Amino acid sequence: MTQNDLSKTLPLRGLHTYAGGCLCGAVRYEATVDLAGVTRCNCTICMKYGYGGGVGMKPDAFRLLKGQDALKKYGRDGSPNTRSFCGRCGVVCYGDGDVPELGGKFVSIYVNTLDDVDPSLLTFGYWDGRHDNWAAGPRPTPWPFQAAA
Ligand SMILES: [Zn+2]
Repeated sequence: MTQNDLSKTLPLRGLHTYAGGCLCGAVRYEATVDLAGVTRCNCTICMKYGYGGGVGMKPDAFRLLKGQDALKKYGRDGSPNTRSFCGRCGVVCYGDGDVPELGGKFVSIYVNTLDDVDPSLLTFGYWDGRHDNWAAGPRPTPWPFQAAA
């Protein structure tokens, strides 16, 4: 596809089914999401795993097509929430878990792993997860590491 060929451009608003996966191709999936809901978070786990941004959905909107055997999971001890990454190429693909305050079971995919989605065209919301400031919700600009005085 050339830079000026917009024929493959996917909608970035509204529910749409996107294909994605890891770098080496071992892990492939589809997700039906609205990219208007993409967010980044400044918590320690999101920072260490990369700041690409994620979009959440109910588990039934996510379909793992291949790679169950290649996937590895990491989660903090006692947490129901994990990140899944390809054990072959190392790309972090998605997270899943259960946060009752945010609607229960979820899957959140990293938008940078979606095919044919240009993150430069997305508008990110920013969570202040570093301070467990979930009640504030996402805002249009990043939160600093340092808590507001
Ligand atoms: Zn891979």
